[in-house]
Amino acid sequence: MIDLHCHSTVSDGALSPAEVVRLAHANGSTVLALTDHDHTGGLAQARAEAAQCGIRLINGVEISVTWRGRSVHIVGLDFDEDNPALQTLLAQVRKGRLERLAAIAAKLEKKGIGGAYEGALALAANPEMVSRTHLAEFLIQNGHVRNKQQAFTKYLGEGKPASVVHEWAALSDAVAAIRGAGGLAVIAHPMRYGFSATAKRNLFEEFKELGGQGMEVHSGNCDKNDRLNYALLAERYGLLASAGSDFHRPNDYSGSILGACPQLPANCRPVWDYFKETKAAAGKTV
Ligand code: AMP
Ligand code: MN
Ligand code: MN
Ligand code: MN
Repeated sequence: MIDLHCHSTVSDGALSPAEVVRLAHANGSTVLALTDHDHTGGLAQARAEAAQCGIRLINGVEISVTWRGRSVHIVGLDFDEDNPALQTLLAQVRKGRLERLAAIAAKLEKKGIGGAYEGALALAANPEMVSRTHLAEFLIQNGHVRNKQQAFTKYLGEGKPASVVHEWAALSDAVAAIRGAGGLAVIAHPMRYGFSATAKRNLFEEFKELGGQGMEVHSGNCDKNDRLNYALLAERYGLLASAGSDFHRPNDYSGSILGACPQLPANCRPVWDYFKETKAAAGKTV
């Protein structure tokens, strides 16, 4: 039982890193990666709790990237979290979140919604990591939208009235930082970007050329068809297959269960076969 993508209060999740690990364990998970946005600050607590529960914790992070003007997320797995170049990149990516919050709040103000800046900050356990998830929560709590999905379709999603274009990390820098720290770079939730077939091909080819090694073939509540389609794409582009719930909070709109991803299609090369410990035992190379 494996889950290689989830969030804690270190970024935009609702549970502490230890609570995330305990819930994953309760759900039957044996291998878990905590992948907070642009931050590895939860890994130590998660690792300690995983040792208590007897499950394997894989170091993880989800790096925000701007690729050809679009937002793309790259998951790093099984890296050295003390790597200075990786930490420098993450610190750079985190900078600017408060400015972006102010810009989004100003746009919401124009739509007659005041107090979003303070409101979102009050909901973020880690102010440096204030995200659109916290803005969505603010909008829900103040009765402007019914749920998180509606917050994005009405206000916060790309191209919507309160969206702001933001320069995150370059794809090349994110891949280089993860690989430089000895990790595996994985394209997060490729089924969620709404990219055309051409854009996907360009992304996968460029990512592979840059040294990227995998993509999520399962994410959140995606269905069997998605898994089959993305398993074929992973095979075509020579990428390993990963799986993650992208869990943020219990009873989320997504309905995905923390810690227990469905089985990958048979043609996949699972990313976990290439984790350092496993690889050393089996003598595998990507
Ligand atoms: P940010 O990093 O601040 O841009 O926030 C991005 C986060 O918002 C993602 O990690 C998701 O948790 C959430 N998110 C983005 N798009 C959507 C969407 N369409 N529906 C629900 N949640 C979303
Ligand atoms: Mn998130
Ligand atoms: Mn993501
Ligand atoms: Mn995520």
